[in-house]
Amino acid sequence: MKSQPISGSPRIGRWTTLANLATAAAALLVATILLILFQYLSLRRALIEDAGVQARIISENSTAALMFNDSRASSETLAVLDAAPAIQAAGIFTAQGQLLASYRRGEAAQVAMPPASLIESGYAFGVDHMDMARRIDLDGRHIGLVVLRASLGQVYTRLASYAGLILMIALGSLAAGYLLVARMRRVVKSAEAHLHYLAHIDPITGLPNRHAFNERLSLAISKVNQFGGSVGLLLLDLDNFKIVNDTLGHPSGDLLLKLVAQRLLECMRSGDVICRIGGDEFAIILESGAGRNGGWVAEKILAALASPFDVNVHEIYVTASIGISTLPHDAVDLETLTRNADTAMYQAKGKGKNAFEMFHPELDQRVQKRLSLETKLRKALERGELMLYYQPQVRLSDGKLVGLEALLRWNHPELGMISPSEFIPVAEDSGLIVPIGRWTLRAACRQMAAWQQAGLCDIHVSVNLSARQTRDPLLVHDIIGALREFGVSPGQLELEITETVLMENVHANVDLLNRLQTEGIRFSIDDFGTGYSSMAYLKRFPIDQVKIDRTFVRDIPGDRDDEAITTAIIAMAHRLGLSVVAEGVENERQLAFLRLAGCDIMQGFHFSEPLPPEKVIEMARNPPVVLEPASFLP
Ligand code: C2E
Ligand code: MG
Ligand code: MG
Repeated sequence: MKSQPISGSPRIGRWTTLANLATAAAALLVATILLILFQYLSLRRALIEDAGVQARIISENSTAALMFNDSRASSETLAVLDAAPAIQAAGIFTAQGQLLASYRRGEAAQVAMPPASLIESGYAFGVDHMDMARRIDLDGRHIGLVVLRASLGQVYTRLASYAGLILMIALGSLAAGYLLVARMRRVVKSAEAHLHYLAHIDPITGLPNRHAFNERLSLAISKVNQFGGSVGLLLLDLDNFKIVNDTLGHPSGDLLLKLVAQRLLECMRSGDVICRIGGDEFAIILESGAGRNGGWVAEKILAALASPFDVNVHEIYVTASIGISTLPHDAVDLETLTRNADTAMYQAKGKGKNAFEMFHPELDQRVQKRLSLETKLRKALERGELMLYYQPQVRLSDGKLVGLEALLRWNHPELGMISPSEFIPVAEDSGLIVPIGRWTLRAACRQMAAWQQAGLCDIHVSVNLSARQTRDPLLVHDIIGALREFGVSPGQLELEITETVLMENVHANVDLLNRLQTEGIRFSIDDFGTGYSSMAYLKRFPIDQVKIDRTFVRDIPGDRDDEAITTAIIAMAHRLGLSVVAEGVENERQLAFLRLAGCDIMQGFHFSEPLPPEKVIEMARNPPVVLEPASFLP
């Protein structure tokens, strides 16, 4: 992305500099003129004083010559002027105005009897000369007059060299000032450019940041509004980037972001803009012609990210979820366009990540609904709207009730019963599952203690654990605390974790399960068969039981694949010393098949739906009859 100048600053800067220089030049000019004027006045004063001294000397020395009308003596007196180069001509006049003696330097004109005004004022200046007249008195009697004419040539010569010097100093200062200002402008400009860079570029990837993204997107939108066309916006969020940061450290996380940015750049066309707008979030703006190509670009990006990244000797696989929105198709302004792309991105994440989703209006409604559900769920815990139902698990060999799965129920005062499949994902995404899970564990332990008092011993209760809970550092503390608080033996608590959750962070989960197993707590793998499904891998975890997912049980007997999968899971689990629970058993045909395949425990509507706690006692006293299978086999 090209960097843009900070709002018109270079032009304004140039004019300001020129104006400042002009002001400085004007000030220097005024100062120079004043200095020259001052110097001129000083030189004039010096000339007056000099001529005055000469006139005084001549007048004092020519008194006798005037008394005796001695023109020779007067001429000799005037000869002292040879030593005063500024004096061009001089004359001594009698009181009657007759010239007694005169002095001339070179070609200078002879002085004449001065007018009365000059005699009165003492001196007068012409363009190139100064005339001076001094009366000669004796005992208070006026006997004659000395008149001098001094040339201003020397004054002007000195003044010119002085003015030249001053001008040179002024011009030198101006030039130095200009150079200084120009240098400062360069420094300021490079500082501005650096600030602009910092404000617009993400330092880790070198890509434009969120600020620049907003600028570029609004520019692209205004172009569409003016000239037509479309803008496509792709919001890309790396899946599980946090795990890389947490396990390999932030420097590796930063390196991965850099490598991802490089790969994204490689699959972009020159007109496309790619920005890093958050921790692991990138945005791609497709302008005009490419605006509607979002889906195609997203496919290209997902394919480009498929090969592993080399991060400090680790080979890391990264996937991304991408949401796409187009203007003017999905939105007419920047906010809606961004929000819609975000909505689509979350939808892609919800679809199981490593996917992209184009925005469509129903998505928005879904998001609004989800948001309002989240707000209600926050209040549900404090208002006591959550409760636990318990679904019986029956042993096939003797039809005995051996366990109960605790299942959350939310009874909302207006919306009625809300299914866990609807609110558990919301609780997961918002993090609310942590306090809700803590409540569930305590409620289940409290209930176990109550049943024990009512004589219902030997029955374990399974509690479901979510992905978020397994990452909660206080989980072990909470579980052990709840067991102790209600005096429940750890062997009676079973925790259900799906294989997908286990595989998300193998090392941490192996540690977690081992820690809890040493306390005596049992573990079941929930929804087995829908995720990773590797028995060998799962064997790394201290598991006691496998629960075959409902989807495999649904179509048996009849569906050959499901029959084969169910039978294989049971056989493999048994060889590994694990017991097997079949989920979602709804009829006797399924029951018969599973019994024949050797399944240990059954859970499903065929025996009982999840029950409120008070009904559990009733059921334990009258357990369901588990029929013999033969007549139901296909
Ligand atoms: P799950 O752990 O696999 O629980 C079994 C689900 O299958 C329950 O749905 C149960 O009512 C349902 N089910 C049992 N037998 C049958 C049957 O014969 N037919 C059919 N169609 N369904 C049957 P429920 O109670 O709606 O819970 C759904 C999911 O919500 C649970 O699946 C579990 O993943 C989650 N969940 C429920 N309670 C909790 C909880 O306390 N914590 C967490 N983290 N998740 C929970
Ligand atoms: Mg379960
Ligand atoms: Mg299940």
